[in-house]
Amino acid sequence: MYQRRTGRIANAIGRRWWGSAAKVPRAIRTSCPRCRRHTEHEVSLYKAGRRRALAEGERRHEWRKKGYGGQKYPRQRRFAKTTKKQTLKLKCKVCGYIIHREGIRLSKLVIG
Ligand SMILES: [Zn+2]
Repeated sequence: MYQRRTGRIANAIGRRWWGSAAKVPRAIRTSCPRCRRHTEHEVSLYKAGRRRALAEGERRHEWRKKGYGGQKYPRQRRFAKTTKKQTLKLKCKVCGYIIHREGIRLSKLVIG
């Protein structure tokens, strides 16, 4: 099946399917939920933040792992995928509201 969700990079850049490199414009005109109309959005790449050792999920995970029968799920040892799904961060130029646009698998993403 192709494109169950709306608002993917493929939509943003008018591409149908994953492939080699994808070019994304530096600015996209799209709907802003706060302004409730189409505005210019600044495009950047989403990067996961640093893991905090004292975050609730992290503490729960530690707690569940300790004791007899430790590891709770199989550890990923070999990865089948060579690419990651890229998420775009769109920042509204009018109000500064940031929306994420879930991406597709890309080997290379070029912004600009
Ligand atoms: Zn806005």
